[in-house]
Amino acid sequence: MSRSPLGSRHLIRDLNRSIVLNMIKEHGPIGRAQVARRSGLSPASITKITGDLLAEGGILETDTGESSGGRRPILLEINPTGGYVIGLKVTEYGVIGVLTDMTADVLEKQKDSLEGTSPEAVAACLASQVDSLCHAAGIPREDVLGVGVGLSGLVNASQCLSRQNPFLGWRDAPIGGLLQSHVHVPVYIDNDVNTLTFAERLFGHGRGVDDFIVVTIGRGVGLGMVLDGQVYSGAHGGAGEFGHTIVQEDGLLCDCGKYGCLETYVGESGLLRAAAECDDLPAVRSMDELIDLGLAGNKSAMAIFATAGDMLGRGISNLINILNPSLILISGEGVRAEEMLFDPMHAAVEKHTMPVLFPDTEILVDPWGDDAWAIGAACLVLGEVFRSPVQNAVPSAVPQMSG
Ligand SMILES: [Zn+2]
Repeated sequence: MSRSPLGSRHLIRDLNRSIVLNMIKEHGPIGRAQVARRSGLSPASITKITGDLLAEGGILETDTGESSGGRRPILLEINPTGGYVIGLKVTEYGVIGVLTDMTADVLEKQKDSLEGTSPEAVAACLASQVDSLCHAAGIPREDVLGVGVGLSGLVNASQCLSRQNPFLGWRDAPIGGLLQSHVHVPVYIDNDVNTLTFAERLFGHGRGVDDFIVVTIGRGVGLGMVLDGQVYSGAHGGAGEFGHTIVQEDGLLCDCGKYGCLETYVGESGLLRAAAECDDLPAVRSMDELIDLGLAGNKSAMAIFATAGDMLGRGISNLINILNPSLILISGEGVRAEEMLFDPMHAAVEKHTMPVLFPDTEILVDPWGDDAWAIGAACLVLGEVFRSPVQNAVPSAVPQMSG
């Protein structure tokens, strides 16, 4: 980072611009005077910055403000069509892609199956979906600000590297670079639960919340964390393996090779294994089928979800005791199980969380749409648009003292 006075001036200019842009995103439609009051920047600075943003098409003017007698004030808001982004979620079987505007509204959505699982084959499939999304939406590739990709497993976002993908069998696959060489626009990758967490932070329940976590229930059990306002991924991108925290000494064998992981009770394969061991249940092939049985009143299916909910609640109380978040969002395919999972979960959270911490945390179950993962991936790019330059400019953290 440049330490010169000129460098500092550029940083301050970029920072002020980021403050104004984010204020318009958070509070728009909003008048210039209000932006000045809330930000503490001078009216002259606000006029200059908003003028630049208008000229670049990043924001637009509307005239819906309340008049206090005189002319109706002109309000500012993010220009939804100021640019477009693409989000791609890679699953075990295929790719779900969306093309969105600047407010994460989906303009086009597609699903493709994978023709091969090598990083090269997947990159080619992703690139072809980028082309077909642009074509279907009638958006030229030059208007796409970037492509975000959500992947299962461990991801090193800064190196655009899939460190480990359990479904595709990858180790250290340079998927970001491979895709970039096809599409020639900036490519961002991250763990899929982190991408959902970005989406919640930018446009969802996590807006303005500095300490919250996202727990996903589906094929596995995932965790995304926003700590002190930042998405936390750990030293090497491996943070958040909540599904592999141990809840049962000498418990069931997990896909990760260990025994008694939370995922063996709450993840899809764990639920299906419990169902297969249950004599009075018909054969079920998916979590969805088991949920349908439970919702129809099948006592054995309900009991499986009750056990899963209890285990999930124990895990969540550990998270509350460690992180003291103000909000926990629960999302993913498994939220369809509703009360048969969440009533026992809430009971276990109350039972196991330290009484002094329990009232601090609100738990919300987020309704689930099947394009949520892809919208999350698009938010990786939108997050870059709204990112503060300080986050880019601050050198790596001061070494921690070990305690
Ligand atoms: Zn495990």
